[in-house]
Amino acid sequence: MPRPAIDLFHETFGSPPRAAASAPGRVNLIGEHTDYNGGPVLPIAIAQRTTAAIGPGAAGESGVLEAVSTRYRNVVRIKWQEELPKGWAAYVAGVLRELWALEGVPPDGAVRVAIASDLPVGAGLSSSAALAVAAAKALAPSLKPRQIAGVAFRAEHDHVGVRCGVMDQTIAALGKRDHALLFECASLAATQIPFGARLLLVDTGKRHDLSAGKGLNERRAECEEAVKRLKVELPELRWLASWPAEWLPRLKRALGEPLRSRAVHVVSETARTRFAAQLLQQGKLKQFGKLLYESHESCRRLYECSSPELDTVVAAAKRAGALGARLTGAGWGGAAIVLVGKNDNETAPAIQRAFERAYGRTAPISEVQASAGAHTERV
Ligand code: ADP
Ligand code: MG
Repeated sequence: MPRPAIDLFHETFGSPPRAAASAPGRVNLIGEHTDYNGGPVLPIAIAQRTTAAIGPGAAGESGVLEAVSTRYRNVVRIKWQEELPKGWAAYVAGVLRELWALEGVPPDGAVRVAIASDLPVGAGLSSSAALAVAAAKALAPSLKPRQIAGVAFRAEHDHVGVRCGVMDQTIAALGKRDHALLFECASLAATQIPFGARLLLVDTGKRHDLSAGKGLNERRAECEEAVKRLKVELPELRWLASWPAEWLPRLKRALGEPLRSRAVHVVSETARTRFAAQLLQQGKLKQFGKLLYESHESCRRLYECSSPELDTVVAAAKRAGALGARLTGAGWGGAAIVLVGKNDNETAPAIQRAFERAYGRTAPISEVQASAGAHTERV
């Protein structure tokens, strides 16, 4: 698995790397649009990973980062303390700067980094966090998983300048094989929950491009506006997700549309996600699956972040008798997850047929496994 990054390092720089580490992508089981509202999410780390192989730079090249990726090939060369490259190497430079602040790398460090990955970029599987977490783990293997997540988060948020939450980096650093992670985005509390079920990932092939960015920004603004209005009733309210679920009637009276629908989604999705984690803990997969369907319905009707393609997949899964299904990763296109029974060989082809009938093309379906978080690799 780490071979391609190690080989790329060797080919590019003419010597073997000194160390390597890898980090996974992720899929969120439930808890959609709860993260930036201070609510819970329930992601799993997946088997597809990004590997970073690292080594010292040439003598006399003080403060120079040389970075290469199988995805882009050209070698990026920058003074990482002084400049931030525009493209992908900014993630690596950001990690270096954060480690420098922690005194994890020497200030005059010359570094070489080679990246290889089997994660698709921009498909909602969080290749960006996998990249930053893998680089941080390779450069500072002795840091605790929480620290690695922090370094990677600040690299992406503060240096690259993406308005991301901390979920992606946290699951990439803390993920555990056959477990999901219940992560509370306000308190940052994290709980490992056993997850051994079969899960399909259906790619609708519709990339969430600009329209998704626009939709997401609009929803974030709506949620902020809802909090502002609800504060009149409950001045201590900081996060929309903290509004008590048993006060939904009060919330509905206080807000007009569309804020009402958005807020009802966030508050009910928050309760649903915590309940889902409990059910999973108790091995109640059937009931857990029902909550996935409910979550999708709430995303579709109240948060209006689904797409016809996603609805087609979820409806076909339900008709075929799957335990649960929903969009994952913000919506407006992208992927859906489908929870299936151990011996279910019917659901995947049924979804495939329905999708082909509706759109005249196939939707790639793969099975995902809850896998390990970041770890070092032998070089
Ligand atoms: P995703 O949902 O996959 O995280 P993002 O837009 O957040 O999508 O991050 C994608 C960006 O992360 C890419 O444009 C690139 O800059 C960087 N990236 C991810 N994987 C790699 C890789 N293997 N090599 C180089 N850059 C990568
Ligand atoms: Mg990302």
